[in-house]
Amino acid sequence: MSIREGAWDCPACGRRRTRGPLANCPGCGRPRGPEVRFYLPDDAREVTDQAEIERARRGPDWSCAYCSGDSPADAPFCGHCGAARGDGTARTVQVLPDQPPAPAPVMPAPAAPAPRPKLTRGCTLSCLGLTGAVAVLAVIGWFASRPKPTTLVVTGHTWERRITTEVLETRLGEAWEGEAPVGARVLTTRQEVHHHDREQVGWEWTERTETRRVPSGSERVKTGVRDLGNGYFEDVYEDRPVYRTEEVTRRVREPVHRQVPVLKTRVSYEVESWEKGPEQRASGNSLDARWPDLPAGPGVREAGRTERYTVRFRDSAGRDVLWHPPDESRWRAHPPGRSVPAMVTSLGEITQLDGVEVERP
Ligand SMILES: [Zn+2]
Ligand SMILES: [Zn+2]
Repeated sequence: MSIREGAWDCPACGRRRTRGPLANCPGCGRPRGPEVRFYLPDDAREVTDQAEIERARRGPDWSCAYCSGDSPADAPFCGHCGAARGDGTARTVQVLPDQPPAPAPVMPAPAAPAPRPKLTRGCTLSCLGLTGAVAVLAVIGWFASRPKPTTLVVTGHTWERRITTEVLETRLGEAWEGEAPVGARVLTTRQEVHHHDREQVGWEWTERTETRRVPSGSERVKTGVRDLGNGYFEDVYEDRPVYRTEEVTRRVREPVHRQVPVLKTRVSYEVESWEKGPEQRASGNSLDARWPDLPAGPGVREAGRTERYTVRFRDSAGRDVLWHPPDESRWRAHPPGRSVPAMVTSLGEITQLDGVEVERP
């Protein structure tokens, strides 16, 4: 409970750190008024003289109602103007809590990244040049692909027909009983562990150690200072409980389990299934289109067919032009030697045949 000497600043002449107990400013002589606040410098002097300690404990100074000067608690008259204590008011005695430790200095926020330059939407000179070149190419392409009238003469035919097949195959497998595919024939069975069940078989005592906090006394902690109202300050302490951790071992009863294997029937089976088979293909270069033969036997079946036909023409400039008609009848409608008016692009694409628009593939 040490007592230390506080200080005050004169509001009239600005003199700093005047010794707390002094009732007049050594700079300008003005009495310390009720508006002046005491404070405790970090390196404040500790009071050890017994008479001074008694003076500090005597109580707060009082402010004169007439001249506002401060006088000691036990003075019946104002030390400045001689007025009786009467309406004089005692200075406030109050506890000032210790400041919590200063927080760690805040790191300066990282500088904001420089704004990225905006992409310019405008077109540069090289971009303009590129656009021009693309436009020229587009015009050339349009001229090249523009169909021109010509007469086509049929010079040949080709065809190709395919049949995809499936073959019945016997495949082996294993499954739990009841989970084999439909139509499977069981070959062998045997017992196997399917899973384990947990079964309680008893109890056992075990020791379990836990830690807990138990009070072990108290400690005195300085929490602030009391402004005694007369230029002195007194440290304020608080008793706080102190704990220690303690290990406690308890005996507990816990269930004991064992793993019980559960057997099930495992089956080996064989089963027939349709699998992708070889593709059958036929082709020719005349109008005698036919479907390829399917391999004989009960274990083969058709899974799908595709066909593709081609008519070869010669245009008036002597170039070969190919056309893939969408079906067999359109293909057969152009026998060898037939002349057909048509529209054909310079890339050899037929857009019109015999006055009918040709759908593009
Ligand atoms: Zn002063
Ligand atoms: Zn006075």
